[in-house]
Amino acid sequence: MSSTAQPTVKTYQNYIHGKWTANAASQTFPVYDPSTEEVIAQVASASASDVDQAVKAARAAFDSGPWPQTTAQDRGRILFKLAEKIRQNAAMLAEIESRNSGKPIVEAEFDIADVATCFEYYGGLANKVTGSVLPVPANALSFTLREPVGVAGQIIPWNFPLLMAAWKLAPAIAAGCTCVLKPAEQTPLTALEFANWFEEVGLPPGVVNVINGVGEIAGAALVTHPGVDKIAFTGSAAVGKIIVKSAADTLKRVTLELGGKSPNIFFADADWEAAVDGALFGVFINQGEVCSAGSRILVEKKIYSKFVESMTEKAKRIKLGPPMDRDTKMGPLVSKEQYERVGSYLELGKKEAKTAIGGGRPKGFGKGYYVEPTIFYDVDNNARISREEIFGPVASVIPFENEADAIRIANDTPYGLAGAVWTRDIFKAFRLVKSMRAGIIWVNHMQPTYVEAPWGGYKQSGFGRELGPWGLEEYLETKQVFVNLDETPIGWY
Ligand code: ADP
Ligand code: MG
Repeated sequence: MSSTAQPTVKTYQNYIHGKWTANAASQTFPVYDPSTEEVIAQVASASASDVDQAVKAARAAFDSGPWPQTTAQDRGRILFKLAEKIRQNAAMLAEIESRNSGKPIVEAEFDIADVATCFEYYGGLANKVTGSVLPVPANALSFTLREPVGVAGQIIPWNFPLLMAAWKLAPAIAAGCTCVLKPAEQTPLTALEFANWFEEVGLPPGVVNVINGVGEIAGAALVTHPGVDKIAFTGSAAVGKIIVKSAADTLKRVTLELGGKSPNIFFADADWEAAVDGALFGVFINQGEVCSAGSRILVEKKIYSKFVESMTEKAKRIKLGPPMDRDTKMGPLVSKEQYERVGSYLELGKKEAKTAIGGGRPKGFGKGYYVEPTIFYDVDNNARISREEIFGPVASVIPFENEADAIRIANDTPYGLAGAVWTRDIFKAFRLVKSMRAGIIWVNHMQPTYVEAPWGGYKQSGFGRELGPWGLEEYLETKQVFVNLDETPIGWY
Protein backbone atom coordinates (compact mmCIF):
# COMPACT_ATOMS: atom_id res chain seq x y z
CA MET A 1 0.00 0.00 0.00
CA SER A 2 1.26 3.43 -0.85
CA SER A 3 2.15 5.53 2.16
CA THR A 4 1.30 8.65 0.20
CA ALA A 5 -2.39 7.73 -0.06
CA GLN A 6 -4.45 10.75 0.97
CA PRO A 7 -7.90 10.58 2.50
CA THR A 8 -10.55 11.84 0.11
CA VAL A 9 -11.38 15.45 0.77
CA LYS A 10 -15.04 16.03 0.04
CA THR A 11 -16.26 19.49 -0.87
CA TYR A 12 -19.53 20.96 0.33
CA GLN A 13 -21.45 24.04 -0.72
CA ASN A 14 -24.13 26.15 0.90
CA TYR A 15 -27.70 24.89 0.69
CA ILE A 16 -29.85 27.81 -0.43
CA HIS A 17 -33.38 27.70 -1.82
CA GLY A 18 -33.18 23.95 -2.28
CA LYS A 19 -29.92 24.05 -4.25
CA TRP A 20 -26.28 23.48 -3.51
CA THR A 21 -24.67 26.83 -4.17
CA ALA A 22 -21.00 27.82 -4.24
CA ASN A 23 -19.74 30.88 -2.43
CA ALA A 24 -20.10 33.84 -4.83
CA ALA A 25 -16.30 34.33 -4.76
CA SER A 26 -15.59 30.54 -4.69
CA GLN A 27 -14.03 30.80 -1.25
CA THR A 28 -13.83 27.70 0.91
CA PHE A 29 -12.43 26.78 4.31
CA PRO A 30 -10.93 23.50 5.51
CA VAL A 31 -12.59 21.16 7.99
CA TYR A 32 -10.40 18.85 10.07
CA ASP A 33 -10.28 15.50 11.79
CA PRO A 34 -9.00 16.62 15.21
CA SER A 35 -7.53 13.18 15.96
CA THR A 36 -5.19 13.28 12.95
CA GLU A 37 -5.11 17.05 12.30
CA GLU A 38 -5.82 16.22 8.64
CA VAL A 39 -8.18 18.15 6.38
CA ILE A 40 -11.23 15.98 5.66
CA ALA A 41 -13.41 18.46 3.77
CA GLN A 42 -13.50 21.83 2.08
CA VAL A 43 -16.60 23.86 2.68
CA ALA A 44 -17.93 26.90 0.83
CA SER A 45 -17.57 29.94 3.05
CA ALA A 46 -20.66 32.15 3.12
CA SER A 47 -20.09 35.87 2.76
CA ALA A 48 -22.64 38.48 3.84
CA SER A 49 -24.10 38.37 0.32
CA ASP A 50 -24.49 34.57 0.43
CA VAL A 51 -26.24 34.97 3.79
CA ASP A 52 -28.48 37.59 2.19
CA GLN A 53 -29.44 35.08 -0.54
CA ALA A 54 -30.29 32.47 2.08
CA VAL A 55 -32.38 34.91 4.14
CA LYS A 56 -34.23 36.07 1.03
CA ALA A 57 -35.01 32.43 0.17
CA ALA A 58 -36.28 31.81 3.71
CA ARG A 59 -38.27 35.06 3.66
CA ALA A 60 -39.92 34.21 0.32
CA ALA A 61 -40.71 30.68 1.52
CA PHE A 62 -42.30 32.07 4.66
CA ASP A 63 -44.29 34.85 3.00
CA SER A 64 -45.58 32.96 -0.03
CA GLY A 65 -45.28 29.63 -1.78
CA PRO A 66 -46.58 26.36 -0.49
CA TRP A 67 -45.17 26.48 3.06
CA PRO A 68 -47.72 28.86 4.64
CA GLN A 69 -50.47 26.62 3.23
CA THR A 70 -49.17 23.39 4.73
CA THR A 71 -51.16 21.97 7.59
CA ALA A 72 -49.63 21.21 10.96
CA GLN A 73 -50.18 17.56 10.14
CA ASP A 74 -48.17 17.94 6.89
CA ARG A 75 -45.30 19.52 8.80
CA GLY A 76 -45.44 16.73 11.35
CA ARG A 77 -45.17 14.15 8.57
CA ILE A 78 -42.12 15.89 7.14
CA LEU A 79 -40.49 15.75 10.58
CA PHE A 80 -41.20 12.03 10.86
CA LYS A 81 -39.67 11.50 7.42
CA LEU A 82 -36.56 13.40 8.48
CA ALA A 83 -36.34 11.18 11.57
CA GLU A 84 -36.61 8.11 9.37
CA LYS A 85 -33.77 9.34 7.14
CA ILE A 86 -31.65 9.90 10.23
CA ARG A 87 -32.34 6.40 11.54
CA GLN A 88 -31.65 4.78 8.15
CA ASN A 89 -28.34 6.62 7.87
CA ALA A 90 -27.39 6.65 11.54
CA ALA A 91 -24.14 4.74 11.12
CA MET A 92 -22.88 7.10 8.40
CA LEU A 93 -23.88 10.22 10.34
CA ALA A 94 -22.34 8.95 13.59
CA GLU A 95 -19.09 8.21 11.82
CA ILE A 96 -18.89 11.67 10.26
CA GLU A 97 -19.83 13.31 13.57
CA SER A 98 -17.17 11.33 15.39
CA ARG A 99 -14.45 12.03 12.82
CA ASN A 100 -15.21 15.71 12.56
CA SER A 101 -15.73 16.53 16.25
CA GLY A 102 -13.40 14.00 17.88
CA LYS A 103 -16.11 12.56 20.11
CA PRO A 104 -16.05 8.80 20.70
CA ILE A 105 -18.09 6.89 18.12
CA VAL A 106 -20.24 5.30 20.82
CA GLU A 107 -21.30 8.75 22.02
CA ALA A 108 -21.84 9.96 18.46
CA GLU A 109 -24.25 7.05 17.98
CA PHE A 110 -26.22 8.18 21.03
CA ASP A 111 -26.31 11.73 19.69
CA ILE A 112 -27.63 10.65 16.29
CA ALA A 113 -30.33 8.49 17.88
CA ASP A 114 -31.32 11.55 19.95
CA VAL A 115 -31.48 13.61 16.75
CA ALA A 116 -34.05 11.20 15.31
CA THR A 117 -36.00 11.20 18.58
CA CYS A 118 -36.09 14.99 18.54
CA PHE A 119 -37.59 15.07 15.03
CA GLU A 120 -40.12 12.42 16.04
CA TYR A 121 -41.10 14.34 19.17
CA TYR A 122 -41.79 17.56 17.27
CA GLY A 123 -43.40 15.58 14.46
CA GLY A 124 -45.94 14.47 17.04
CA LEU A 125 -46.26 17.89 18.65
CA ALA A 126 -46.79 19.85 15.41
CA ASN A 127 -50.56 19.36 15.32
CA LYS A 128 -51.07 19.72 19.07
CA VAL A 129 -50.50 23.48 19.01
CA THR A 130 -53.70 25.20 20.05
CA GLY A 131 -54.81 28.63 21.14
CA SER A 132 -57.30 29.34 23.90
CA VAL A 133 -60.65 31.00 24.34
CA LEU A 134 -60.51 33.76 26.95
CA PRO A 135 -63.14 34.55 29.55
CA VAL A 136 -63.85 38.14 28.46
CA PRO A 137 -67.31 39.72 29.12
CA ALA A 138 -70.31 38.04 27.50
CA ASN A 139 -70.73 40.62 24.71
CA ALA A 140 -67.43 39.63 23.11
CA LEU A 141 -65.45 36.63 22.07
CA SER A 142 -61.69 36.58 22.50
CA PHE A 143 -59.35 33.81 21.49
CA THR A 144 -55.73 33.32 20.55
CA LEU A 145 -54.08 32.07 17.38
CA ARG A 146 -50.59 30.62 17.57
CA GLU A 147 -48.57 31.68 14.53
CA PRO A 148 -44.99 31.05 13.45
CA VAL A 149 -42.53 33.75 14.42
CA GLY A 150 -41.15 33.94 10.86
CA VAL A 151 -37.61 33.46 9.59
CA ALA A 152 -35.35 31.89 12.21
CA GLY A 153 -31.56 32.28 12.11
CA GLN A 154 -30.07 29.33 13.99
CA ILE A 155 -26.44 29.40 15.07
CA ILE A 156 -25.01 26.07 16.18
CA PRO A 157 -21.99 25.11 18.33
CA TRP A 158 -19.45 22.37 17.62
CA ASN A 159 -19.83 20.09 20.66
CA PHE A 160 -23.07 18.31 19.63
CA PRO A 161 -23.26 19.45 16.02
CA LEU A 162 -26.28 17.69 14.54
CA LEU A 163 -28.11 17.38 17.87
CA MET A 164 -28.01 21.13 18.52
CA ALA A 165 -29.22 21.70 14.95
CA ALA A 166 -32.10 19.26 15.59
CA TRP A 167 -33.10 21.04 18.82
CA LYS A 168 -33.61 24.18 16.72
CA LEU A 169 -34.80 22.91 13.34
CA ALA A 170 -37.44 20.47 14.59
CA PRO A 171 -39.53 22.93 16.64
CA ALA A 172 -39.09 25.64 13.99
CA ILE A 173 -40.46 23.38 11.24
CA ALA A 174 -43.28 22.18 13.52
CA ALA A 175 -44.25 25.81 14.15
CA GLY A 176 -44.22 26.69 10.43
CA CYS A 177 -41.17 28.92 10.52
CA THR A 178 -38.49 28.95 7.85
CA CYS A 179 -34.83 28.62 8.77
CA VAL A 180 -31.32 29.68 7.96
CA LEU A 181 -29.05 27.31 9.84
CA LYS A 182 -25.40 28.12 10.42
CA PRO A 183 -23.42 25.17 11.76
CA ALA A 184 -20.18 25.84 13.60
CA GLU A 185 -17.31 26.29 11.16
CA GLN A 186 -15.39 23.48 12.90
CA THR A 187 -18.14 20.86 12.50
CA PRO A 188 -20.54 21.54 9.62
CA LEU A 189 -20.47 18.10 7.96
CA THR A 190 -23.42 16.24 9.47
CA ALA A 191 -25.79 19.18 8.96
CA LEU A 192 -24.66 19.37 5.34
CA GLU A 193 -25.24 15.65 4.79
CA PHE A 194 -28.65 16.06 6.42
CA ALA A 195 -29.61 18.79 3.94
CA ASN A 196 -29.32 16.25 1.12
CA TRP A 197 -32.70 14.81 2.19
CA PHE A 198 -34.70 18.02 2.51
CA GLU A 199 -36.16 17.88 -0.99
CA GLU A 200 -36.99 14.20 -0.82
CA VAL A 201 -38.96 14.52 2.44
CA GLY A 202 -41.03 17.34 0.96
CA LEU A 203 -39.53 20.51 2.41
CA PRO A 204 -40.23 23.20 -0.20
CA PRO A 205 -37.19 25.19 -1.43
CA GLY A 206 -36.14 27.93 0.97
CA VAL A 207 -37.80 26.45 4.07
CA VAL A 208 -34.49 25.26 5.49
CA ASN A 209 -31.24 26.76 4.20
CA VAL A 210 -27.80 25.79 5.48
CA ILE A 211 -24.95 28.26 5.25
CA ASN A 212 -21.36 27.72 6.26
CA GLY A 213 -18.86 30.19 7.45
CA VAL A 214 -17.12 31.75 10.36
CA GLY A 215 -19.15 33.32 13.12
CA GLU A 216 -17.78 36.82 12.74
CA ILE A 217 -18.88 36.97 9.08
CA ALA A 218 -21.70 34.54 8.29
CA GLY A 219 -23.09 34.42 11.84
CA ALA A 220 -22.90 38.17 12.29
CA ALA A 221 -24.60 38.78 8.91
CA LEU A 222 -27.48 36.56 10.01
CA VAL A 223 -27.86 38.37 13.33
CA THR A 224 -28.03 41.84 11.76
CA HIS A 225 -30.13 40.90 8.72
CA PRO A 226 -33.48 42.75 8.75
CA GLY A 227 -35.19 39.78 7.07
CA VAL A 228 -34.57 37.52 10.08
CA ASP A 229 -37.22 37.57 12.83
CA LYS A 230 -35.52 35.43 15.45
CA ILE A 231 -32.07 34.22 16.38
CA ALA A 232 -31.61 30.97 18.27
CA PHE A 233 -28.05 30.61 19.46
CA THR A 234 -26.09 28.01 21.39
CA GLY A 235 -22.49 28.87 22.11
CA SER A 236 -20.19 30.91 24.29
CA ALA A 237 -21.41 33.61 26.66
CA ALA A 238 -19.04 36.08 24.99
CA VAL A 239 -20.69 35.61 21.60
CA GLY A 240 -24.15 35.53 23.22
CA LYS A 241 -23.55 39.05 24.50
CA ILE A 242 -22.45 40.24 21.05
CA ILE A 243 -25.57 38.70 19.53
CA VAL A 244 -27.95 40.40 21.98
CA LYS A 245 -26.34 43.76 21.24
CA SER A 246 -26.33 43.40 17.47
CA ALA A 247 -29.85 41.95 17.33
CA ALA A 248 -31.11 45.04 19.16
CA ASP A 249 -31.13 47.27 16.07
CA THR A 250 -33.74 45.10 14.39
CA LEU A 251 -35.35 44.00 17.70
CA LYS A 252 -35.20 40.35 16.82
CA ARG A 253 -36.42 37.75 19.23
CA VAL A 254 -33.34 36.08 20.69
CA THR A 255 -32.99 32.83 22.59
CA LEU A 256 -29.60 31.93 23.98
CA GLU A 257 -28.16 28.78 25.45
CA LEU A 258 -24.76 29.76 26.73
CA GLY A 259 -22.11 28.26 28.89
CA GLY A 260 -21.99 27.20 32.47
CA LYS A 261 -19.78 26.40 35.40
CA SER A 262 -22.11 23.90 36.90
CA PRO A 263 -21.76 22.66 40.47
CA ASN A 264 -21.86 18.92 41.09
CA ILE A 265 -22.36 18.57 44.87
CA PHE A 266 -21.41 15.51 46.91
CA PHE A 267 -22.57 14.99 50.50
CA ALA A 268 -20.97 12.43 52.81
CA ASP A 269 -24.11 10.28 52.80
CA ALA A 270 -24.13 9.77 49.01
CA ASP A 271 -23.76 6.30 47.52
CA TRP A 272 -19.98 6.18 47.23
CA GLU A 273 -19.40 4.30 43.98
CA ALA A 274 -22.21 6.07 42.14
CA ALA A 275 -20.95 9.42 43.40
CA VAL A 276 -17.36 8.97 42.26
CA ASP A 277 -18.57 7.76 38.87
CA GLY A 278 -21.01 10.64 38.64
CA ALA A 279 -18.29 13.18 39.38
CA LEU A 280 -16.10 11.85 36.56
CA PHE A 281 -18.89 11.32 34.06
CA GLY A 282 -20.32 14.77 34.85
CA VAL A 283 -17.15 16.58 33.84
CA PHE A 284 -15.29 14.31 31.40
CA ILE A 285 -18.06 13.08 29.10
CA ASN A 286 -17.54 14.39 25.54
CA GLN A 287 -14.00 15.48 26.61
CA GLY A 288 -15.63 18.03 28.91
CA GLU A 289 -16.92 19.92 25.88
CA VAL A 290 -20.40 20.14 27.34
CA CYS A 291 -22.19 23.35 28.31
CA SER A 292 -23.60 21.65 31.41
CA ALA A 293 -20.30 20.01 32.42
CA GLY A 294 -20.11 19.51 36.17
CA SER A 295 -16.80 21.36 36.23
CA ARG A 296 -17.08 22.54 39.85
CA ILE A 297 -17.10 19.48 42.05
CA LEU A 298 -18.17 20.46 45.56
CA VAL A 299 -17.35 17.82 48.18
CA GLU A 300 -18.29 17.74 51.88
CA LYS A 301 -15.17 18.06 54.02
CA LYS A 302 -15.83 14.80 55.89
CA ILE A 303 -15.22 12.78 52.70
CA TYR A 304 -13.13 15.28 50.76
CA SER A 305 -9.65 13.70 50.78
CA LYS A 306 -10.90 10.20 50.17
CA PHE A 307 -13.18 11.43 47.38
CA VAL A 308 -10.35 13.22 45.56
CA GLU A 309 -8.26 10.06 45.90
CA SER A 310 -11.02 7.81 44.52
CA MET A 311 -11.72 10.16 41.64
CA THR A 312 -8.04 10.23 40.80
CA GLU A 313 -7.74 6.45 40.88
CA LYS A 314 -10.72 5.98 38.61
CA ALA A 315 -9.68 8.81 36.26
CA LYS A 316 -6.46 6.87 35.54
CA ARG A 317 -8.62 4.22 33.90
CA ILE A 318 -10.40 6.56 31.47
CA LYS A 319 -9.34 5.38 28.05
CA LEU A 320 -8.19 8.09 25.66
CA GLY A 321 -7.92 7.05 22.06
CA PRO A 322 -8.97 7.47 18.46
CA PRO A 323 -12.63 8.50 18.31
CA MET A 324 -13.49 5.61 16.01
CA ASP A 325 -12.34 2.95 18.53
CA ARG A 326 -15.36 1.52 20.27
CA ASP A 327 -13.66 1.37 23.65
CA THR A 328 -12.46 4.98 23.57
CA LYS A 329 -13.96 7.04 26.38
CA MET A 330 -12.33 10.36 25.49
CA GLY A 331 -11.20 11.53 22.06
CA PRO A 332 -9.31 14.69 21.14
CA LEU A 333 -10.65 18.19 21.64
CA VAL A 334 -12.41 19.61 18.62
CA SER A 335 -9.77 21.99 17.27
CA LYS A 336 -6.33 23.47 17.64
CA GLU A 337 -7.91 26.66 18.95
CA GLN A 338 -9.76 24.76 21.68
CA TYR A 339 -6.66 22.70 22.51
CA GLU A 340 -4.65 25.88 23.04
CA ARG A 341 -7.42 27.51 25.01
CA VAL A 342 -7.74 24.53 27.37
CA GLY A 343 -3.94 24.32 27.55
CA SER A 344 -3.73 27.85 28.88
CA TYR A 345 -6.28 26.98 31.60
CA LEU A 346 -4.19 23.95 32.53
CA GLU A 347 -1.18 26.21 33.10
CA LEU A 348 -3.34 28.60 35.10
CA GLY A 349 -4.80 25.75 37.16
CA LYS A 350 -1.35 24.53 38.16
CA LYS A 351 -0.73 27.96 39.70
CA GLU A 352 -4.16 28.44 41.24
CA ALA A 353 -4.62 24.99 42.81
CA LYS A 354 -3.15 21.53 43.41
CA THR A 355 -3.10 18.94 40.63
CA ALA A 356 -4.40 15.45 41.44
CA ILE A 357 -4.04 14.07 37.93
CA GLY A 358 -3.49 15.24 34.36
CA GLY A 359 -2.53 18.74 33.41
CA GLY A 360 -1.35 18.28 29.85
CA ARG A 361 -1.07 16.13 26.80
CA PRO A 362 -1.34 12.37 27.34
CA LYS A 363 1.73 10.29 26.59
CA GLY A 364 1.90 8.30 23.36
CA PHE A 365 -0.12 10.62 21.16
CA GLY A 366 1.95 12.05 18.32
CA LYS A 367 -0.94 13.79 16.57
CA GLY A 368 -4.33 15.06 17.57
CA TYR A 369 -5.68 17.54 20.09
CA TYR A 370 -5.71 15.17 23.06
CA VAL A 371 -5.80 16.44 26.62
CA GLU A 372 -5.58 14.30 29.76
CA PRO A 373 -8.53 14.25 32.12
CA THR A 374 -7.39 16.76 34.70
CA ILE A 375 -8.43 17.15 38.32
CA PHE A 376 -7.45 20.24 40.27
CA TYR A 377 -8.27 20.21 43.98
CA ASP A 378 -8.21 22.62 46.93
CA VAL A 379 -9.59 25.13 44.46
CA ASP A 380 -10.85 28.44 45.79
CA ASN A 381 -14.20 29.36 44.28
CA ASN A 382 -12.74 32.77 43.42
CA ALA A 383 -10.01 31.19 41.28
CA ARG A 384 -10.41 31.74 37.55
CA ILE A 385 -10.52 27.97 36.98
CA SER A 386 -13.68 27.84 39.08
CA ARG A 387 -15.31 30.92 37.57
CA GLU A 388 -14.58 30.66 33.85
CA GLU A 389 -15.94 28.07 31.48
CA ILE A 390 -13.01 25.96 30.21
CA PHE A 391 -14.92 23.60 27.89
CA GLY A 392 -12.42 20.80 28.23
CA PRO A 393 -11.67 17.87 30.56
CA VAL A 394 -10.81 19.97 33.58
CA ALA A 395 -12.40 19.54 37.02
CA SER A 396 -12.07 21.94 39.93
CA VAL A 397 -12.71 20.21 43.25
CA ILE A 398 -13.81 22.51 46.06
CA PRO A 399 -14.37 21.45 49.68
CA PHE A 400 -17.43 22.62 51.65
CA GLU A 401 -18.31 22.60 55.34
CA ASN A 402 -22.08 22.07 55.45
CA GLU A 403 -25.30 22.46 53.47
CA ALA A 404 -25.44 26.25 53.71
CA ASP A 405 -21.83 26.48 52.58
CA ALA A 406 -22.54 24.17 49.62
CA ILE A 407 -25.50 26.30 48.49
CA ARG A 408 -23.51 29.50 48.82
CA ILE A 409 -20.61 28.18 46.72
CA ALA A 410 -22.94 26.54 44.17
CA ASN A 411 -24.74 29.81 43.50
CA ASP A 412 -21.62 31.98 43.60
CA THR A 413 -21.16 31.99 39.81
CA PRO A 414 -22.35 34.21 36.99
CA TYR A 415 -23.81 31.13 35.30
CA GLY A 416 -26.94 29.08 35.98
CA LEU A 417 -27.34 26.34 33.42
CA ALA A 418 -27.25 23.21 35.56
CA GLY A 419 -26.41 21.67 38.91
CA ALA A 420 -26.48 18.30 40.61
CA VAL A 421 -26.67 17.03 44.15
CA TRP A 422 -25.74 13.59 45.45
CA THR A 423 -27.18 12.46 48.80
CA ARG A 424 -29.44 9.76 50.18
CA ASP A 425 -31.27 12.28 52.37
CA ILE A 426 -34.38 13.31 50.49
CA PHE A 427 -35.02 16.34 52.73
CA LYS A 428 -31.58 17.68 51.97
CA ALA A 429 -31.83 16.81 48.26
CA PHE A 430 -35.00 18.83 47.77
CA ARG A 431 -33.78 21.74 49.87
CA LEU A 432 -30.81 21.91 47.49
CA VAL A 433 -33.09 21.61 44.46
CA LYS A 434 -35.03 24.67 45.61
CA SER A 435 -31.96 26.68 46.61
CA MET A 436 -29.89 26.29 43.47
CA ARG A 437 -30.34 28.90 40.74
CA ALA A 438 -30.10 26.91 37.51
CA GLY A 439 -32.25 25.60 34.66
CA ILE A 440 -31.84 21.95 35.58
CA ILE A 441 -30.97 20.22 38.85
CA TRP A 442 -30.16 16.53 38.79
CA VAL A 443 -30.51 14.46 41.96
CA ASN A 444 -28.07 11.54 42.14
CA HIS A 445 -27.15 11.86 38.48
CA MET A 446 -25.65 14.36 36.09
CA GLN A 447 -26.15 15.03 32.36
CA PRO A 448 -29.13 13.02 31.14
CA THR A 449 -31.36 15.19 28.96
CA TYR A 450 -34.59 14.11 27.32
CA VAL A 451 -36.49 15.79 24.51
CA GLU A 452 -39.68 15.88 26.61
CA ALA A 453 -38.13 18.11 29.30
CA PRO A 454 -37.00 21.76 29.13
CA TRP A 455 -33.40 22.84 28.70
CA GLY A 456 -31.96 26.32 29.24
CA GLY A 457 -30.26 28.64 31.63
CA TYR A 458 -30.74 31.08 34.49
CA LYS A 459 -28.47 34.10 34.91
CA GLN A 460 -25.69 34.45 32.33
CA SER A 461 -26.36 30.98 30.93
CA GLY A 462 -28.93 32.59 28.64
CA PHE A 463 -32.66 32.88 28.21
CA GLY A 464 -35.42 30.89 26.58
CA ARG A 465 -35.91 27.14 26.77
CA GLU A 466 -35.37 24.38 24.24
CA LEU A 467 -37.00 20.95 24.00
CA GLY A 468 -40.49 19.88 24.99
CA PRO A 469 -43.40 22.24 24.42
CA TRP A 470 -41.16 25.05 25.73
CA GLY A 471 -38.91 24.70 22.70
CA LEU A 472 -41.88 25.07 20.36
CA GLU A 473 -43.19 28.14 22.23
CA GLU A 474 -40.02 30.01 21.28
CA TYR A 475 -40.98 29.71 17.59
CA LEU A 476 -44.56 30.93 18.05
CA GLU A 477 -46.22 34.31 18.30
CA THR A 478 -49.57 34.76 20.01
CA LYS A 479 -52.26 36.68 18.20
CA GLN A 480 -55.36 37.74 20.07
CA VAL A 481 -58.59 37.85 18.12
CA PHE A 482 -61.38 39.99 19.56
CA VAL A 483 -64.87 39.62 18.15
CA ASN A 484 -67.58 42.04 19.12
CA LEU A 485 -70.90 40.25 19.66
CA ASP A 486 -72.85 43.36 20.55
CA GLU A 487 -74.49 45.03 17.53
CA THR A 488 -75.23 48.34 19.26
CA PRO A 489 -72.93 51.15 18.10
CA ILE A 490 -70.22 52.22 20.52
CA GLY A 491 -71.95 55.62 20.80
CA TRP A 492 -68.74 57.40 21.63
CA TYR A 493 -69.54 60.57 19.65
P1 ADP B 1 -16.25 28.88 20.44
O1 ADP B 1 -15.54 30.15 20.77
O2 ADP B 1 -16.08 27.82 21.41
O3 ADP B 1 -16.01 28.45 19.03
P2 ADP B 1 -18.58 30.36 19.76
O4 ADP B 1 -19.60 30.92 20.68
O5 ADP B 1 -17.60 31.30 19.14
O6 ADP B 1 -17.82 29.22 20.51
O7 ADP B 1 -19.29 29.59 18.57
C1 ADP B 1 -20.62 29.12 18.54
C2 ADP B 1 -21.29 29.48 17.24
O8 ADP B 1 -21.38 30.92 17.17
C3 ADP B 1 -20.52 29.07 15.98
O9 ADP B 1 -21.46 28.68 14.99
C4 ADP B 1 -19.83 30.34 15.56
O10 ADP B 1 -19.56 30.41 14.18
C5 ADP B 1 -20.87 31.38 15.94
N1 ADP B 1 -20.33 32.74 16.14
C6 ADP B 1 -19.11 33.10 16.62
N2 ADP B 1 -18.98 34.44 16.64
C7 ADP B 1 -20.15 34.95 16.19
C8 ADP B 1 -20.65 36.29 15.98
N3 ADP B 1 -19.90 37.35 16.26
N4 ADP B 1 -21.90 36.43 15.51
C9 ADP B 1 -22.67 35.35 15.24
N5 ADP B 1 -22.26 34.08 15.40
C10 ADP B 1 -21.02 33.87 15.87
MG1 MG C 1 -15.58 31.28 18.56
